[in-house]
Amino acid sequence: MQGPTPAERPALDALVEQQEKALRKALIAQRTPVFAVHAIQRVHERIDALADQVRRQPGTAIACRAGCSHCCHLRVEAMAPEVFLLARQVQKWPEAERSALQARLDAHAARAAGLAMHQHRLRCPLLGDDERCSAYAARPFMCRKLMSSSVAACAAPEQGAVEDRTMFLQAAAITYGAHKGYGRAKLPNAVHELGQALRVALADPGAEARWFRGDAVFAPLPDEG
Ligand code: SF4
Repeated sequence: MQGPTPAERPALDALVEQQEKALRKALIAQRTPVFAVHAIQRVHERIDALADQVRRQPGTAIACRAGCSHCCHLRVEAMAPEVFLLARQVQKWPEAERSALQARLDAHAARAAGLAMHQHRLRCPLLGDDERCSAYAARPFMCRKLMSSSVAACAAPEQGAVEDRTMFLQAAAITYGAHKGYGRAKLPNAVHELGQALRVALADPGAEARWFRGDAVFAPLPDEG
């Protein structure tokens, strides 16, 4: 998908700025780790609202359906607050489900470490046996914003998904604004490979507090580290 045209750019720049300002102000006004983690939910809701709007547009044919999981075999990147939000959800699961996830996270970490984006073709550890996300309500930006019009294209990741342009550009602008908002509020805003970061967040009860103090608690992406 091509980036924004000169005509599209001003509206997208305004969207980035609006999202960045709103998030930065909120994070500075309520400076607690719990708020800093849950603030990402507002941004997720905004992406979901955009997705609903795009689906309702006349002539739009979105192929994404529950049980279709091609995109859950690509590298999922997530910001630290998204990882901690997922960890908080997983901690409420029954013990047996948490243990099973832990085993999948361990196996995933052994295979995913060091893989670049184009090499990462692994099943997400959060994908259930029914090919549905086991943590759907807390899934990160990247899983919310991909809206494809072709299952065949998603099945051939080297070809790339055929994404809705409005969703692609506006969701990227909102995501970038959120990224800047955390950064401007002096919170680490790097993105990380989801499975490996979630494994750390679940194993280390002090990780969230250290992130809030400004530490980089998760490994950088191998192609950016
Ligand atoms: S978090 Fe959920 S939606 Fe995202 S890749 Fe994993 S299983 Fe799929």
